[in-house]
Amino acid sequence: MSRFQKLLNYLNPYRWQVAQGIFALFIVNALSVYIPLLIREGIDRLRTSFTSDYLTQLAIAIVALTTVMWVVRMISRITIFRVGRQVQATLKQNIFEHLLQLEPGYFATTTVGDLVNRFTSDVENITRLVGFAVLSTANIIFAYALTLPAMLFIDVKLTLMALAVYPLMLVAVQLFSGQLRDQQVVVQESISDLSELIQEDMSGIALIKIYAQEENERRAFRKKNQELFTANLKLAESRNTIFPIIQGLASISLLVLLWQGGLAIANQEISVGGFLSLVIYAQNLIFPTALLGFTITAYQRGEVSIDRVEAILFNQPKIADAPTALHLDAGLQGQITARDFSYTYPGAETPALKHLNFTIKAGETIAIVGPIGSGKSTLANALPRLVEIPENSLFIDGYDLTNLSLADLRSAIAYVPQESFLFSTSIENNIRYGDPLANQTVVETAAKLGQIHWEVLNFPQQYDTIVGERGITLSGGQRQRTALARALLLNSPILILDDALSSVDNQTATAILQNLSKTGQKRTTIFITHQLSAAATADRILVMEKGEIVQAGTHQDLISQEGLYQWLCGQNQLEELLH
Ligand code: ADP
Repeated sequence: MSRFQKLLNYLNPYRWQVAQGIFALFIVNALSVYIPLLIREGIDRLRTSFTSDYLTQLAIAIVALTTVMWVVRMISRITIFRVGRQVQATLKQNIFEHLLQLEPGYFATTTVGDLVNRFTSDVENITRLVGFAVLSTANIIFAYALTLPAMLFIDVKLTLMALAVYPLMLVAVQLFSGQLRDQQVVVQESISDLSELIQEDMSGIALIKIYAQEENERRAFRKKNQELFTANLKLAESRNTIFPIIQGLASISLLVLLWQGGLAIANQEISVGGFLSLVIYAQNLIFPTALLGFTITAYQRGEVSIDRVEAILFNQPKIADAPTALHLDAGLQGQITARDFSYTYPGAETPALKHLNFTIKAGETIAIVGPIGSGKSTLANALPRLVEIPENSLFIDGYDLTNLSLADLRSAIAYVPQESFLFSTSIENNIRYGDPLANQTVVETAAKLGQIHWEVLNFPQQYDTIVGERGITLSGGQRQRTALARALLLNSPILILDDALSSVDNQTATAILQNLSKTGQKRTTIFITHQLSAAATADRILVMEKGEIVQAGTHQDLISQEGLYQWLCGQNQLEELLH
């Protein structure tokens, strides 16, 4: 599909509004050709059959038609700019909804800054294309198609002379408009650079003081501030150059017209009225001609932006429901099986997981331990299909995971990742994130299970306390327990904790895990941990090394075997002694 077709696609839902706007422009241009003809006629009649009645009528007609022209012009602008804004809003919504469907891996390879840029500058460029560019293209076509014949009809020679410099106007604007847009981008980037620096420095103010880096930061700010100043100055210079150039060229055209027109009147080759209407027509064409230059730039920018936005939209979600995806009416029990499951990250050379085979019974509590990089998180991410897993490798209750609907699969799994991300809203809303309709009692029960309830009661507004930038800062352990409460609220048959209690002390972590297996419903729990005293409480422990499960069994079994687990326990005891 060509870019032009894509552009039409964006406009298609609003085609009637666009047609209305363009029709209004046609009327405007027709009137702007007709009114000077009236003036011409009036002036030429002054010399022959002058009556004051006729003059009054003519004046009224001209004022009335001019008023109509301006009202219709206003309507056409409002209509088409509204279409631009509507396309903008729809496009932003579509991009956002599309991004929500993409897998986390996509965001690991795309920077947030780039995405934000596509949301703002690129969408803005497309809006300009469908609003401003469509409006001005129609305007230019109508202006020339209607005005030029009228001018040529009055006097061919004078018309050509008057318009001779107009192509120069177009070239000048074309040269400058690209530069203007580039400079605008630089200004915008400088502004965002500066705001980023302010934001970062103000949040990291303690660090700046501890390391006594005020002087350095002051210099960094001055540099960025100076960059913004220079960029603003350059933009102003370009703006202040282009408009006088247009005016200068327009004046040259007017001079030529006055000079040659004067001679023609003297030689009685043209009437005074005809000459005056030529002057008006020539003036009327200045704006559309200059605009053509800006419009060409808007098309060029818009096309690049269409490509950049379409690049997001054409990125199909890699992890999606299979066409035959099963929807389960009854919930899942929570039995998990791996059959010769291997996984390699896209672009990686060695597999992160190699030939895993295991079965976890429904309701069992399993600890996964092993050195950093042994594949524990990858396994945790594979179960809710946050990474793209092969078919026939992982099963829940005997169903191949890749064959279950994603919504059913994910609603069966409560997952607490390593980084406990909290939204900038109240504690209560954070805990009920998975079920926004959950009532206060349900929230509190989950908070008690996650052992955060009593601390929440000590917060200034208790459960209504806002966390994050706009509210209080929670300690690492508090964040983790809030994230745990959020997962527990869902009562899912499977709970996965990926080192989710690393900032909670060993005793509390162990107490929480023991509590979980005693109270509440029976759920399959998989927890990845470095705290071996917590792992010891699990029904079974899987020990991973370099993507493989090297040992499996209860704490008692494993501690008496020679192997990685014994070694890890030795290290752990050593660490605890040292603390
Ligand atoms: P663990 O949780 O045991 O520390 P991980 O599952 O995070 O281990 O990592 C297992 C291996 O996969 C490591 O070698 C790591 O470098 C690699 N890995 C992890 N995440 C990615 C990723 N997004 N892309 C490529 N390789 C990754």
